Amino acid sequence: MITKNIELARDILMQDGIVAIPTETVYGLAGNAFSETAVKQIFGLKKRPFFNPLILHIKSMESLHSVVKEIPETALKLASRFWPGALTLVLKKQAHISDLVTSGMDTVAVRVPNHPAALELLAQLDFPLAAPSANPFGSISPTSAQHVHHYFKETLSIILDGGVCEKGIESTIIGFENDEPILYRHGAISIEEIEKVVGKIKIVTENSENPKAPGMLSRHYAPNTETHLVTNISESIKSYKSKKVGVLLFKENSQLQNCLFQEVLSNTGDFEEAARNVYAALHKLDQSDMDIILIEKLPDIGIGKSINDRLIRAVKKE
Ligand code: AMP
Ligand code: MG
Repeated sequence: MITKNIELARDILMQDGIVAIPTETVYGLAGNAFSETAVKQIFGLKKRPFFNPLILHIKSMESLHSVVKEIPETALKLASRFWPGALTLVLKKQAHISDLVTSGMDTVAVRVPNHPAALELLAQLDFPLAAPSANPFGSISPTSAQHVHHYFKETLSIILDGGVCEKGIESTIIGFENDEPILYRHGAISIEEIEKVVGKIKIVTENSENPKAPGMLSRHYAPNTETHLVTNISESIKSYKSKKVGVLLFKENSQLQNCLFQEVLSNTGDFEEAARNVYAALHKLDQSDMDIILIEKLPDIGIGKSINDRLIRAVKKE
């Protein structure tokens, strides 16, 4: 059921149930982070492998100390600058945080979401919410209550409707090694914005070299339709003359021929608007019965880099 009833969501969560919640990044599949029953259900519903840890959503910066310890100065600086907001910090966990949440690691990922319904819900709870994106493992992330419903139908008792997600892509994830910040995942806050606060930062976003971040799987966010990422779409489309081709473009392109379905991310070339639209556009293209989806890469700067990161993972072959 899709509802705006926050009290109903609270009651289900207090009884170890699972609720899909809106955040400013993407919708989350939320449960009581302190309840093994709830956390197990999240993994089960998502078919998420247990080696992929969850993010804790807390109500405010003050709650941070109840879930983590040994917080580096830079982490506090980042949190005060960006919270509530789309920045996830990976920090040393408190002993009582379950291994299920952290996949056995001694660190836990945590953020304060910037969405009025999520914050109101958290304010009514005395535990953090563990919430990965509300999609089956590996598929396109949901940015509306309808996307979540499309995936889970009635297996999810409620979806808390908070409208379309304002940011539209996942949070930026930052961890620490010897108190030095490291970027684990590009996200809704651009690396340029982060570097304004902490200076030049190391980037480690590939799974294979970095067992500390098992969620950085190379294939993710993937449509079911055959999909290719290209740099010159006008050229690439010529190879598919006999096929039904759908395209995903950053800006409109009136020159394209033999394309049946065109999704434009931002007519004015605005990265934030493009981020807000990218998953909805992928959902639409994937459901439009095309033979092929061609995606044009965005300029690799600012949030464009984060969107490209998602698009690259969407087309990876396992
Ligand atoms: P999602 O909730 O679907 O946006 O995904 C959560 C992301 O956070 C995944 O990519 C996880 O690998 C990452 N994550 C969660 N906890 C940790 C951790 N302790 N260390 C590194 N990455 C983490
Ligand atoms: Mg996800």
